Amino acid sequence: MSQEVQASLLEFALDQVSPQLRFYYRHRDDPTFKAQRQIDKSSWYARNKIRAQAYRKKHYRAHLKKYKEGSKIRGKKLYEKNRALCLDHYGRVCSCCGVEEEAFLTIDHMNGKKDRHESGDKLYRMLVKNGFPEGFQTLCYNCNIAKGHRGVCPHRAQSRG
Ligand SMILES: [Zn+2]
Ligand SMILES: [Zn+2]
Repeated sequence: MSQEVQASLLEFALDQVSPQLRFYYRHRDDPTFKAQRQIDKSSWYARNKIRAQAYRKKHYRAHLKKYKEGSKIRGKKLYEKNRALCLDHYGRVCSCCGVEEEAFLTIDHMNGKKDRHESGDKLYRMLVKNGFPEGFQTLCYNCNIAKGHRGVCPHRAQSRG
């Protein structure tokens, strides 16, 4: 296709669009036009900056409660989901005393928290993300805290004599 035909085709196509768009297509490669567009954009923001920021602030404040509640609910749901996945993998029973009540269960770092510092929702998220690595087990909070404080749960200390 010769450049002439191409140009006339473009002209034909441009006849079909709005005058503003036609003007834009004809001048978009023109450096002066480009520069002008940049200035227009930045000056629009400069002119409306305070108004735009005030609107954004007002809107944010008006809906803050809703936003916060929404993210709280989403966070809780995610927490429950990750926790359930971890318990499915590591078992829904305390590895030490055999308690099965789900509300009592948590995930324990078998070698303490020396190299990993996650706890709570961060721990569950990390375990899910890493495909349930080795070195973790299900314990109830009693056994977990006792082990944390004394190095070994009293249940185990007794059974060892
Ligand atoms: Zn236990
Ligand atoms: Zn125990």
